[in-house]
Amino acid sequence: MPSAPSKPRILAIHAHPDDVEFQCAGTLARLKQAGCQVTIVTMTAGDCGSAELGPAEISRVRRQEARQAADLLGADYACLEFQDLGIVHDNDGRRRVTEAVRRARPDIVLTAPPVDYMADHEMTSRLVRDACFGAPIPNYMTCQWEPAPPLAKIPHLYYMDPIEGIDYFGKAIQPEFIIDVSATFELKLKMLACHASQRNWLLKQHGIDEYLESCKKWSGKRGQEIGVAYGEAFTQHKGHPYPHDNILLKLLSVK
Ligand SMILES: [Zn+2]
Repeated sequence: MPSAPSKPRILAIHAHPDDVEFQCAGTLARLKQAGCQVTIVTMTAGDCGSAELGPAEISRVRRQEARQAADLLGADYACLEFQDLGIVHDNDGRRRVTEAVRRARPDIVLTAPPVDYMADHEMTSRLVRDACFGAPIPNYMTCQWEPAPPLAKIPHLYYMDPIEGIDYFGKAIQPEFIIDVSATFELKLKMLACHASQRNWLLKQHGIDEYLESCKKWSGKRGQEIGVAYGEAFTQHKGHPYPHDNILLKLLSVK
């Protein structure tokens, strides 16, 4: 008990605005209810997410949408200002993401899975994994403005589901565990609905509200796997120095 932080700090970091909402907003809402402090970070502002608006304009819109969604949850929000299709696994990226991790000071980090349908997601996953490793190393300099101090330890790291739970050969990915998000699913949908620019785009293109429907379908499928209405799946990173105990499951095991 004394070693467990009383109110763990959570950092959910993914590539684009709306990825966090799709893959883990229900879990974040449960963590928030459990008294955790939550920060949502997107690598980009989603500058390629429009056929009509230019990069700067759509970025402005999507930063605002992401902030609205975070506000619904009572979470902090930051965008690291990478470019869509421009996230690469290099020293600059590693420093920027490590700085974001140090600033959020998380006990638990939720991020993109190592294998997903596009490079931004996979690069984010790799950079966050490296950032969690580097964040406690005192001699690792992020070379950013007003650098935050190093963390006391490597945070617990978890990967969210890839889109549709498949690898790039269409093979289903078996998650380690699934969190019941039935009670917070309405809030998750409301958060997702904040991303009006994306929702309306699909609505116009396909004539159905595919954005929210696909979320219901996918969360419903994961829920079904554990016998509840809606679920979100995770797999813990268990590389050598990373914490192996499942603090996330423990935190949410009391309903
Ligand atoms: Zn994405």
